[in-house]
Amino acid sequence: MPERIAILGAGIMGCCLALEFARRGRKVTVFDERCAPMECASRWNEGKLHLGYLYANDPSLATARHMLPAGLAFLPIMRDWIGEAIDTAISHSDDLYLVSRGSVVGAAATGAYFEQVTALAKTMPGCADYPGDLTRAAVRQASRSDLERHSNACDIVAGYFLPERSIQTRWVADRLADRVTQEPFIELRMGQRVEGVDAGESGHDPWTVRTLAVGDTGEATREAFGLVVNALWQGRVAVDRTAGIADPADCSNRFRVSAFVRTSKPLAVPSAIICVGPFGDMKNYNGRDFYLSWYPTGLLRDTKAAVPGAAPVIDSEIRAAVLRGIQKHLVPRLPGAGQVLEAAERIEVAGGWIFAQASGVLADPSATLHRRERFGVSRIGNFLSVDTGKYATAPHMAREIVSMVMD
Ligand SMILES: Cc1cc2nc3c(=O)[nH]c(=O)nc-3n(C[C@H](O)[C@H](O)[C@H](O)COP(=O)(O)OP(=O)(O)OC[C@H]3O[C@@H](n4cnc5c(N)ncnc54)[C@H](O)[C@@H]3O)c2cc1C
Repeated sequence: MPERIAILGAGIMGCCLALEFARRGRKVTVFDERCAPMECASRWNEGKLHLGYLYANDPSLATARHMLPAGLAFLPIMRDWIGEAIDTAISHSDDLYLVSRGSVVGAAATGAYFEQVTALAKTMPGCADYPGDLTRAAVRQASRSDLERHSNACDIVAGYFLPERSIQTRWVADRLADRVTQEPFIELRMGQRVEGVDAGESGHDPWTVRTLAVGDTGEATREAFGLVVNALWQGRVAVDRTAGIADPADCSNRFRVSAFVRTSKPLAVPSAIICVGPFGDMKNYNGRDFYLSWYPTGLLRDTKAAVPGAAPVIDSEIRAAVLRGIQKHLVPRLPGAGQVLEAAERIEVAGGWIFAQASGVLADPSATLHRRERFGVSRIGNFLSVDTGKYATAPHMAREIVSMVMD
């Protein structure tokens, strides 16, 4: 096991890797261009603890099979690192999946898929530890009166209450950032942009990490490490190229923003998502903290480029356009979203990159973006590159990766 370990990226993937190495007695150095850990996609996302329901356009169940073990392990692992209090950040009730008339999968096929995923989840180790205990889970079809109460548009043709939960990712981000900052075995190098990683003379180990302080234009600093793990998310492929890892066959980089709302009073509106395709959703975490998204207006960048370029700046114009999109398209479909906006005391419009080894757009049923079974690790010697896939899958993947290199 090499002496010096570098982790590139301080999102959920990098932080979980660092904590796991530290737990197993190894010192690590973490590099990130931001001033603090957990500032990007891992702070500003919906926090679905994925069981695979969203991927109804993958009837092979390959995506669900790939996601389930990690989705089920999220909470037990995170409790180890940031304590039992994490349970207070989880949504309390089942999600209402509403099938739109424009869905790329019909209502009956979507319902059948949900039944299959639920049955599969119940066979998995750890299903009893998922919030609400999946051993007793069932798909409940929404009645006509459920649909009339919670949705309001004639394009909703069916609804299903599913036992999937979500976590408030800003809450987790603050705790995880504290944990990595306080952990003596973790050295944080924030404000450092990773320019590349070069192989040693033998063509692989040791690896030299090249970094430049953000804002500097001079010579990069070079430092040798016996093991390097690249968890840079949208920045990953550019650094993989320097290490000799070829680009994935298909790349999709989307920059998406949503509204994170705090209300002045508790509201009893359900968490609901319109599926399957480029629609929107509303998450109720605790009665006062909400996530609202309308996909077409929240999608600020969508590129096939493996290296996507700079993130858009979210100025007042974009913020207003995103909120207008939610008001115009989400509120008529989910009237609860209107109540959330009316009672808002704080609204933040924010988001991040979503990388996928896939192609196409969500409105196209043949797009491989509807599947997510390819994320994971590529490796040359002791240079490892991690496609996180999902927020929910990161803690489990971190444990697996550390076991892979240490055991
Ligand atoms: C709107 C939205 C909703 C989502 N909803 C869900 C959901 O419900 N459930 C779910 O499981 N997932 C969801 N996701 C996906 C999830 O957010 C990501 O899969 C996950 O956060 C990726 O974690 P990460 O640590 O790999 O990346 P990040 O959190 O982005 O961390 C990568 C880090 O690398 C740093 N970095 C990048 N390039 C460089 C460089 N060259 N030099 C130095 N530092 C660099 C960045 O500053 C960043 O801190 C959503 C994403 C978005 C945007």
